[in-house]
Amino acid sequence: MKEVYTFEDLMDWQSATAGESPPLRLAVLGDPVAHSASPPMHNAALAACGLDARYCRVRVLANELEGALHLLGEKGFIGANCTIPHKLNALTIVDEADEDAKRAGGVNTVVVGPGGRLKGSSTDGAGLERALKEQFDVGLQDLRVLVLGAGGGAGRAVAKQCAFSGARRLILINRSPEKLQPLHDAIVEFYPRERLFLCPWEEPALAAALDHADLVVNCSSIGMKPGDPSPIPAALLSREHLLYDTIYTAERTPLMLAADQAGARSANGLSMLLHQGALSFEKWFDRPAPLETMRQALQESMARRRD
Ligand code: NAP
Repeated sequence: MKEVYTFEDLMDWQSATAGESPPLRLAVLGDPVAHSASPPMHNAALAACGLDARYCRVRVLANELEGALHLLGEKGFIGANCTIPHKLNALTIVDEADEDAKRAGGVNTVVVGPGGRLKGSSTDGAGLERALKEQFDVGLQDLRVLVLGAGGGAGRAVAKQCAFSGARRLILINRSPEKLQPLHDAIVEFYPRERLFLCPWEEPALAAALDHADLVVNCSSIGMKPGDPSPIPAALLSREHLLYDTIYTAERTPLMLAADQAGARSANGLSMLLHQGALSFEKWFDRPAPLETMRQALQESMARRRD
C-alpha cells in the first residue's frame, strides 16, 4: 500500500491497487494528507474485526473533491473521511447530510450507500464530548468553556458543539477577532446570547475570561511546532482549570506543561482523534468500534513519529 494515493490513482483504482489484499475500501481525503494518523488506527480496527477492507490516504485537491467523492461508490468504497481543507465543501457535495454535519457546518465522515449515494456526517463534536468524559469525567452542559482559537476549523466545530450541548457559558477567543462574528451569529440561533462572550486575545482580557471558565479547549495551532510557547502563560492558570489541548502531535504539549506548573489537570487531543475515528467506524459498519485496539495503534503510530 502506498503512503499516499492521488486522484489519478482513484480514477484507475483497480490498477493502482492491484494485488492489494485486503482491498483498499476506506480512505481519508485531504490536502495535505500525508500526516494523517487515521490509517494505522483504522487498519488495526479492521484487522481486529476480521473485516475484508483496508484504509488508506488519498491526496485530493480542492477542485478534485467532487469527482473523488462521486467515484467512491463505483470503486467499491465503504466510505471515507474528509479532512483539511475539504470538510466544508463535502457538506455541499453529499446527497444527504445528517444533523451533526449540518450543525458542525462540515462533513468528516462519508458513508457510501446503495447506488453510490453519499451520506455525510460529522463525528468531531461527539468525539470531543467522549474525550472530555474519558479524560476529566465531565460533560459540557456543566461547564463554563473558553475556546481558544475559535476562529479556525477545529475551533468553530468545538464552539458549536459546546453551544449545542448547553455549556453554562461560552467564551470565544481568536487571534484574528473578525473571524468570531460569523460564528457568534451562527451560535445565537440556538444558544442564549447572554451566555456567549467574544474576547480579544490580550493578556488582561484573557485573565478576566479565565476567572469565569472551568474548561479551556485549545484549538489554536500554538504548540504544534517544536519550541512553541504555551498559548496561555502558566501564571494565568489555576489548579481548578481543566485544559484540553486538541493538539496531539506531542505527548505533553506546551499548554499541558503550563497546566502542570499551575497544578491543573490537562490532556492532549489524542482522545478526540480516537473517538471521532471510532464514531466514523461505527457509521461505516454499524457495530461498536474496537476502541482499545484503535487507541493502542494510535499511540504506537505517534510514538514512531516522535522517534
Ligand atoms: P486552522 O483552521 O488553520 O486554525 C488555526 C487556528 O490557530 C486559528 O484560530 C488561528 O488563528 C490560530 N493560530 C495559528 N497561529 C497562531 C498564533 N501564532 N497565535 C494565535 N493564534 C494562532 O487549523 P485547524 O484545522 O482548526 O487546527 C487547529 C489545531 O487543532 C491543530 O493543532 C490541530 O492539530 C488540532 N486539531 C485536532 C483534532 C483532534 O482530533 N484532536 C482535530 C482537528 C484539529 P487566526 O484565525 O488568527 O489565524
